[in-house]
Amino acid sequence: MKKIGFIGLGNMGSKMVINLLKANYEVVGYDINEKLIDQLIPNGIKKASSLKEIINDIDVIITMLPNGEIVEKVYESIINKLKPNTLLTDCSTIDVDKAKFLHKKCNKHNLLSLDAPVSGGVVGAENRTLTFMVGGSDEAYNLMLPLFNVMGNKSVLCGSHSSGQAAKACNNMLLAITMIGVGEAFNLGSNLGLDANKLFQILSTSSASCWSINNYCPIENVGPKSPADNNYQPGFSANLMLKDLTIALEAIENTKTSAPFGRKAKENFEAMINNEKGDLDFSAIINFNK
Ligand code: NAD
Repeated sequence: MKKIGFIGLGNMGSKMVINLLKANYEVVGYDINEKLIDQLIPNGIKKASSLKEIINDIDVIITMLPNGEIVEKVYESIINKLKPNTLLTDCSTIDVDKAKFLHKKCNKHNLLSLDAPVSGGVVGAENRTLTFMVGGSDEAYNLMLPLFNVMGNKSVLCGSHSSGQAAKACNNMLLAITMIGVGEAFNLGSNLGLDANKLFQILSTSSASCWSINNYCPIENVGPKSPADNNYQPGFSANLMLKDLTIALEAIENTKTSAPFGRKAKENFEAMINNEKGDLDFSAIINFNK
């Protein structure tokens, strides 16, 4: 049985840890916000009061942190002290270049590494329905697979180092674009006098159907329950979507990809956030399309 160090016990990390503990893994947890560790003690987490305390005799380190700069800082503090072949799995969403850089660093120190960002949000973290998009070696992936299976219901090894972050950037850019498009279609329907529920019946089963319509329709009382039925409380906030679009745009620039819709999507979310609506669910973008 592996001993796991888990760093970053926020909205996502805390739920992922609970599932590891339920599966009887030994988990030592650390977060700069000590209260978040204390809340998990009844679930069986062992508390580390500093990063130094988390590294003793650990087989796997999992990070679930806000951004790449913080992940790098954390890696810098622990990387020299881990035993060879310790596996570091970063589940945070970070930029592709930073992920590559961190893999190289781990490699130099004889450590195994994976980038493994997730899709599925807080509900997926709680219900073990996360999808892990993974980059790294077969050896590291196979070691991590039992833990992915405890925290989620799907993992795909997308390729070598940083491929997971690459897949995540593509996924969330497309999600932003489709959600903006869905908003535009419903706004047009409304201006043409169409009933939103009738339009949903068509769009959700027609050639235009997509996840943003079928599972997350941005209109109150239309389709399955979604943040639109709860005043657009997240869910997945517009602020987090802008973070992911910023990562996608950097990748677009670096690879000289023509992606005018991805660029425009970022502008739309910037406008929403400049209107101080960044804490709303990203589906509230429908109200900024008008
Ligand atoms: P969060 O802000 O709730 O949690 C991050 C945690 O990291 C916080 O508890 C914070 O105290 C801790 N932290 C910050 N700096 C630290 C440090 N130096 N050492 C230790 N702990 C530190 O964020 P979240 O919603 O859990 O998201 C985590 C990651 O998952 C992000 O990269 C996000 O983009 C990604 N993600 C989030 C969602 C979502 O729906 N929330 C969905 C998919 C992916």
